[in-house]
Amino acid sequence: MDEPCPACGHSPALVLIEGSDRLYGTTDRVFQVVECQACQLLRLHPWPSPGELRHYYPDDYWFVPEQDAVSNLEETYRRVVLRDHVNFVRRALDRAEAEGPVLDVGCGGGLFLKMLAEKGRSVVGLDFALGAAGAAWNRNGVPAVCGSLTQTPFAPESFAAVTMFHVIEHLFDPVSYLEAAHRLIKPGGRLIVQVPNASCWQFLLLGESWNGVDIPRHLINYRAHDLEILLDRCGFEATRTKYFSLRDNPAGLASSLAPGLDPMARRIRAIEEPPKKRLAKDLLYLGLVMLSVPFTLLEAACHAGSTVMMEARKKA
Ligand SMILES: [Zn+2]
Repeated sequence: MDEPCPACGHSPALVLIEGSDRLYGTTDRVFQVVECQACQLLRLHPWPSPGELRHYYPDDYWFVPEQDAVSNLEETYRRVVLRDHVNFVRRALDRAEAEGPVLDVGCGGGLFLKMLAEKGRSVVGLDFALGAAGAAWNRNGVPAVCGSLTQTPFAPESFAAVTMFHVIEHLFDPVSYLEAAHRLIKPGGRLIVQVPNASCWQFLLLGESWNGVDIPRHLINYRAHDLEILLDRCGFEATRTKYFSLRDNPAGLASSLAPGLDPMARRIRAIEEPPKKRLAKDLLYLGLVMLSVPFTLLEAACHAGSTVMMEARKKA
């Protein structure tokens, strides 16, 4: 390997799998997922340049539902499955020794923050995509800023908590992001991070078909232990870990098994579907998601769930 490991700087690495953009079909280029032979961190190889990587993100990557009946159904579904995230963050805020707003990095259309605001919390969103930040405000009434966490207009120690759901696996330099979060969080505040968990059963069983590797958008594939080490290095102590997410784990298995049914992939690939066909595919997908629940609960109970959500305390 010519590229050094981003965590330890060591170059030799073992090739685990090969694959291309299975979900959105943005490229035919084949990438590998390799394991660093020194620190065992899993990473995409080779890393695309930032300019190339941009082409692997479809324009419609963030999600805002339209206002028709099927979309309203999808929105209801999204609210039900997001409760896990909302409850995890509310509990973290209850345990935090700090008062103040919550900043969600990679806020998308802002539904999560809207639900948190409905529980009486003050919230702010941040997203790379101008359309996402605009939609968070226009659709969901969530104040949102367009930009990068490393260059935000916020004063240091402004927030009781910073949340990052499925953000850091997309970053070339997660350390700079986590350090920026550290500066923005008040003493005693909390960081909540969620990533796909590369030490899950789904990866073992499905290999490159596991949608958690998401070639070529996931530059680093964390195991729960890697995330703990990274957080510690950036000034945080992991205090709580959850391996199950109702939004992500069953749907992740469904999308791994039947990527052609994934609602977001269908939208991004702009597949023509009359409303009835769209509803039928949505229901079929929903059925597959429900069938996936028992397995994903079992793997999570064995600490091998396909996502890992961590609450971390800002160290003094
Ligand atoms: Zn390494």
